[in-house]
Amino acid sequence: MALIAVNDLSVGYGSQIVAENINFKVEAGDYLCIVGENGSGKSTLMKTLLNLQKPVKGEIIKGDGLKENEIGYLPQHTDVQKDFPASVKEIVLSGCLGRSGFKPFYTSADKKLASENMERMGITDLAGRSYRELSGGQQQRVLLARALCATRKLLLLDEPVSGLDPKVTAEMYSLIAELNKEGVSIIMISHDIGAAVGYADHILHIGGNVFFGTREEYLGSKLGRFFLMRQSRDDESMPLFKPRKKNPYSIMMSEDSGTAEAEEGNASEETSAETAVKNASENDDTRVQAADNDNVNDKEVNDNDR
Ligand code: ADP
Repeated sequence: MALIAVNDLSVGYGSQIVAENINFKVEAGDYLCIVGENGSGKSTLMKTLLNLQKPVKGEIIKGDGLKENEIGYLPQHTDVQKDFPASVKEIVLSGCLGRSGFKPFYTSADKKLASENMERMGITDLAGRSYRELSGGQQQRVLLARALCATRKLLLLDEPVSGLDPKVTAEMYSLIAELNKEGVSIIMISHDIGAAVGYADHILHIGGNVFFGTREEYLGSKLGRFFLMRQSRDDESMPLFKPRKKNPYSIMMSEDSGTAEAEEGNASEETSAETAVKNASENDDTRVQAADNDNVNDKEVNDNDR
């Protein structure tokens, strides 16, 4: 059974729906990226997964033995959090609160776990420092260590690289990818389609168009290609990413059916975006340069193109 199965979910505030028709599954070990326009409801969906917000409609089924307190959460970095007046060690330890059953003290097992996770995130030497004195990248490592104290099963990350410089962003993405390789399931909101298709194995795109599938299927869909190309146009510094497999992006797209079939190394009618991503996959640290394609516009990305 999946860790999380979401069926016909609508999310929002009161009766106000901000995103609907959401269906997806997360299996143990998956890495899911949630993408979509600003304001499309990504954070609201994450709050709903965390039970901080009631679904307007539909259901969220947690399975595979996943308990509520086994979901680690890295919230969006706010200015208030950046100024939090506590030491690194205190913040990391606070991740054990749910696990220790809200005892008024931390057990030696909690302290050991906090030390291990600080070590894992490379922040042991910062343990006594005040959180608010740290750089943005160091603060995110502290929050990841905290989230890992809550769970090794599932991490929910809301824009974990927002505000970080490109080098620290790449380090953060690679740290998250390592955790995933170690078996931690990841659900990450990202505004960065390039990074999403570089790291995740599944993509959930919400907004006017809703898509859920593997990243290869997403890259083969008009919606995915459109967003990848548009981001590369808007943002000259597309993110660094490391594809997991060699050349996973040779995808034949059936325009009639709107379905994508993976056909390794044998795509005869690639789009410019596919070519760009494929070329990038041959060189691990290449920046994706998806070429311009003036024939793709918003009108073309309609429900039939998923
Ligand atoms: P995203 O994460 O995709 O940028 P959000 O989930 O933050 O989108 O927001 C989706 C919509 O919900 C936006 O129109 C936003 O203004 C609205 N919204 C966010 N938080 C609240 C709230 N607490 N009450 C009412 N509306 C909200």
